[in-house]
Amino acid sequence: MFRSVTLLCVSAALACAAEPQISPAYQDAARRLIEAALKDEAGMARLQYLCDQIGNRLSGSASLDKAIKWSAEEMKKAGLQNVQLLPVKVPHWVRGAESLAIAGPVSRSLPMLGLGGSIATPPNGITAEVLVVTSFEELAALGADKVRGKIVVYNQPFQGYGETVRYRSSGASQAARLGAVAALVRSITGRTLRTPHTGAMRYEENVPKIPVAAITPEDAQMMARLSRAGVPVKVTLKMEARTEAPADSANVIGEIPGREKPEEVVVLGGHIDSWDVGQGAQDDGSGVMAALAAVALMKELNLQPRRTVRVAFWTNEENGTAGGNGYRDWLGDKVKNHVAAIEMDGGAEKPVGFGVGSSAGRRRAVAPGAAPTTPARPPVKDLSAAAMARLGEIAKLLAPIDAGKISLGGGGADIAPIMALGVPGLGLQTTSEHYNDWHHTEADTFDKVNPEHFRQNVAALAVMAYVLADMPERLTDLQ
Ligand SMILES: [Zn+2]
Repeated sequence: MFRSVTLLCVSAALACAAEPQISPAYQDAARRLIEAALKDEAGMARLQYLCDQIGNRLSGSASLDKAIKWSAEEMKKAGLQNVQLLPVKVPHWVRGAESLAIAGPVSRSLPMLGLGGSIATPPNGITAEVLVVTSFEELAALGADKVRGKIVVYNQPFQGYGETVRYRSSGASQAARLGAVAALVRSITGRTLRTPHTGAMRYEENVPKIPVAAITPEDAQMMARLSRAGVPVKVTLKMEARTEAPADSANVIGEIPGREKPEEVVVLGGHIDSWDVGQGAQDDGSGVMAALAAVALMKELNLQPRRTVRVAFWTNEENGTAGGNGYRDWLGDKVKNHVAAIEMDGGAEKPVGFGVGSSAGRRRAVAPGAAPTTPARPPVKDLSAAAMARLGEIAKLLAPIDAGKISLGGGGADIAPIMALGVPGLGLQTTSEHYNDWHHTEADTFDKVNPEHFRQNVAALAVMAYVLADMPERLTDLQ
């Protein structure tokens, strides 16, 4: 999953804080890590195997189980220690066969993807006239008399992922509240080649459940044009989606134990699960494989930091976050020993730097007046100016790959549960030029990952994680 956040450059604050420079001490280690990362072949080779030979990995699927077991073996082969599977129960939604057809004025089938968590239609489908709206406000203004019995089509414009995703998350319940029989949501993307984007949805309590699917922006606009022209549009939606009993799954972890303070940990990773379309290459195969490559290179270069560096492949980020929550529960009191958490879950485009979780960033992530798009998370503790200055110093080591920008507002869905308990969280940030073009689609495949950019992400993760794990103080000690 990808959450768009407001980037706020904090370079002014960094320049003001008078902290001793740390970067000279790590110049050599950073240079070695970056050089090795830019030549690394193993990371891309693992990503290729994951994509082509295991495939997409939805929670509860056999392919996710296979990916988890294979990941543990790869961690061992890379020389990591304490490789473990941490069992977690995950939701188990199954898509089943599905289709959408327009009956007139032109009769044809339309590309669609049911949204994760949706219920099925009756076996013969639901056939009804569509009602096209561009916003929840427009839907509410029409009222139950106009909505009852219709299939609501949301043709909302794309205003950034964080703002627009609420139509996917809660569009079904908003329509059902007014008597709609199904809902179709324009895919959450700014650019499209008639490709539907799936993703998670939630039913509100005490509102009837109706089936919901994503359609392409092209078809949403076509139905809007027909409606405006006064041409009634009838469609037939068929979905066999079902939710089964929670399934067994696991987070995978592996470590380089710290040479002085092995009980203190810097964790870095992403999520091993994906949607059940495409190959989950950018989201988030690239994140987990870059994190493993970063730690594998430390091992290869004999860079054993003062504290433990742990790579984590969390499960079930896409439709439940059971992995991130399970990791927090597994840690228990030991969460106090987490020095920092780093997540890469925005794809492997050209890295620009790191977003640092902060209460300010969290507030800015939701536009004023907008309905929250994800369950409210507890506030994140802000780092001191001295800690931010230190991050700026570390980031300077990434100047050779132009990835040294530190911004406020970042983290990741998998590390959010421990960030809420006070662990400083960082999200790797990229140019994100095309991420939403492929996100949650059949097009999220290995060929979309630029090897050079992937290696730069490996370098950025390796340097940030190594220095945070090795520097004398913890970030939270710097006041
Ligand atoms: Zn993701």
